[in-house]
Amino acid sequence: MKRWGAPLAVRTRLTLWYTAILFVMLLVVSVLSYSRLRWTIMQDLDTSLLTVAQVIHDTGYPGSDLAAGPETALRQILGPEFYDKFFQLVDPEGRPGARSTQLRDRALPLSAAARANAARGVRTFETVRLATGEWVRLLTLPITRRGQLTHLVQVGIPLERTERTLARYLESLLVLVPLGLVLAAAGGVIIARAGLQPVDAMSRMARRITTGEDLAQRIVPRGTGDELDHLAETLNAMLARLEGLFAQMRRFAADAAHELRTPLTVLKGEIEVALRAERSTEEYRRVLASSLEEVERLTRLAEDLLLLSRFAARMPPPRSRVELDSLLVDAFDVGVRLGQAQGVAVRLGEVCPAAVEGDAAALRRAIVNLVDNAVKYTPGGKVELSLGCADGRASIVVSDTGIGIDPADAQRVFEPFVRLDTRTQEAGGAGLGLAIARSIVRAHGGTISVESSLGAGSTFTIRLPLA
Ligand code: ADP
Repeated sequence: MKRWGAPLAVRTRLTLWYTAILFVMLLVVSVLSYSRLRWTIMQDLDTSLLTVAQVIHDTGYPGSDLAAGPETALRQILGPEFYDKFFQLVDPEGRPGARSTQLRDRALPLSAAARANAARGVRTFETVRLATGEWVRLLTLPITRRGQLTHLVQVGIPLERTERTLARYLESLLVLVPLGLVLAAAGGVIIARAGLQPVDAMSRMARRITTGEDLAQRIVPRGTGDELDHLAETLNAMLARLEGLFAQMRRFAADAAHELRTPLTVLKGEIEVALRAERSTEEYRRVLASSLEEVERLTRLAEDLLLLSRFAARMPPPRSRVELDSLLVDAFDVGVRLGQAQGVAVRLGEVCPAAVEGDAAALRRAIVNLVDNAVKYTPGGKVELSLGCADGRASIVVSDTGIGIDPADAQRVFEPFVRLDTRTQEAGGAGLGLAIARSIVRAHGGTISVESSLGAGSTFTIRLPLA
């Protein structure tokens, strides 16, 4: 059942629009054609009135042979042209004289305008109503002899037949226009239905996919290469993206659960063993210290996950001016301290003064993550930090001479929980460092990339738009 106020179906709307436009078009065409017909008929009438008047004028009536029997003579000269017309002569003072027999005692009216025109030698066409109520088209033509107005000739024709013709034409329009409109609307409904049928089919298919929650399914394009096929392709691309995102989410949840379970298992095992028998204070202290380590690892993991989800949701970071050069020097200090413990020489290269808009703590975290990795994967080697400014972008470069990354894995390292080297696990990393760095950089409108080859070290670059 259709609700009141519910939006109209596209096909109904299309049909309504189409019918409305057609109605306006038919109306305009009808009005124009009716006016044109009327104008043409009047023009024809005027021409034939003028012909009759001209004949009367040219034959020199009155005062010529015509005076004997003007009507008979006119009939002879004009033939059928004269049949439905009548005439009347008027003297310059406006007194009616000889007239057609069919007029009998009814004189044709002479308007003041026609008389004034005649005085100036100008003819007048007008539509007048006789005393009988009959409408007549009337021509008043002045006759002059040697520059002197001698008579006025009036020739008229009843408009009854013309009116009848026009009325019949109007009746035809009044029947044909609505009929055409109804037929066109019916055609419109059929066309709209046929045109939108593939859209219906497609939306049914899309609904089946979303309710079935099987994102691996695709909408089958019809192969016509038209707009609907493009729509199908767009929807399929969207489904593919959603499928990828869902898979990524599932993987993320599974990996996160796995990461959480490992320290919890260790924790549980240690506590169980400790409780199995009476232990010395020393022993309890050792178990508690080890448990605290696992708890700290869990806390770190939870914080990392929180941070990742905060920036992955593309929440705009708190905006303030961040001096990247001092941030880099800060990260360098951290690197030097970490490097000392591992025998890695950390150096500071060229640093240009640069500032960006964003969250200083988060950006520091992203840079420190890179420095931390560089030191971690460069035993006994060198690490260099630099900051360049060009083309409105700041480039933070962290390069090392460490173990490097296989180019095939270069993109994967930015995904959460990806660890290419087992050393990370020992170092307590969960594989979230680069994922966090990437989400922070992206939230700042920047990019992060890596260039590396196995055994030849790696270069990580963060590019950020300058403030
Ligand atoms: P983690 O927290 O384990 O360090 P990251 O996300 O920071 O995780 O790094 C992911 C993986 O990328 C690491 O396990 C390591 O295999 C690789 N990686 C990161 N940085 C470097 C580097 N500078 N040199 C070599 N490998 C690296």
